[in-house]
Amino acid sequence: MPNPSGKVLSEGKTKIVRETERSDVVLLEFKDSITALDGEKKDILRGKAVINSHISAYLLELLEKNGVPTHIIEFIEPNMMRVKKLNMIPVEVVCRNIAAGHFVKNFPVAEGTPLNPPVVEFYLKDDARHDPMLNEDHFLVLGLASREEVKKIKGLTLKTNKVLSKDLKAKGLILVDFKIEVGRGTGGKIYVGDEINADSMRLREVGTNRILDKDVYRKGGSMEEVLNTYVQLYEKILGKKPPIGGTQSG
Ligand code: UDP
Repeated sequence: MPNPSGKVLSEGKTKIVRETERSDVVLLEFKDSITALDGEKKDILRGKAVINSHISAYLLELLEKNGVPTHIIEFIEPNMMRVKKLNMIPVEVVCRNIAAGHFVKNFPVAEGTPLNPPVVEFYLKDDARHDPMLNEDHFLVLGLASREEVKKIKGLTLKTNKVLSKDLKAKGLILVDFKIEVGRGTGGKIYVGDEINADSMRLREVGTNRILDKDVYRKGGSMEEVLNTYVQLYEKILGKKPPIGGTQSG
């Protein structure tokens, strides 16, 4: 893989953010690491960077085409994206169509129950506090965003849900839930940032209800099963084989 030269601005669990020649543009380099349980479970999944970066670029471009502003500028083979530098709001925005994960832990609703209307939730990104849930008032008192911005974020999230659900359904996939992150660009405009892929969505195969996302890893699947899941998701979304060579598990 090419070795980008820009100064590292930050490095997270799954991506490295680098400076570029432009102050309003950064380079995201996806990594092969996979984590769960607040980072307690950690592995290297060879090929994941290529798969997740391609899926993210495809879905961000799909959102752009459908009127949802996102940070993507261009994809750079094999695992990088040039993106607008955003001032990220330290919040995870979750949207749920079907009850799963934390929703079934927190509420008396059986896994698999359709949620109508879709539920939008906000969580503060704060590992030490295990990402507490936020309501609209919390945004104001914590100085995270104004009421108008929260409304805008919720609207962008529901539009994102519609666009993603429709495209994925046409590819035989049910979008159970997903997480996005948002930030402010020039002039304070709100954009969808970060990544959207098997790490941040729950997906089920139409007909079989087979899991096609990071839940396979969270639930203790072998690395071969996890890679196989990511490869199959790539094939379903992009309609071709991922450019990751032969056997990549390990
Ligand atoms: N999610 C994520 N990052 C997180 C927490 C959740 O991308 O730190 C995604 C997750 O993949 C799922 C959705 O957000 O698609 C809802 O997750 P949930 O709140 O149920 O938490 P989980 O049970 O996945 O920890």
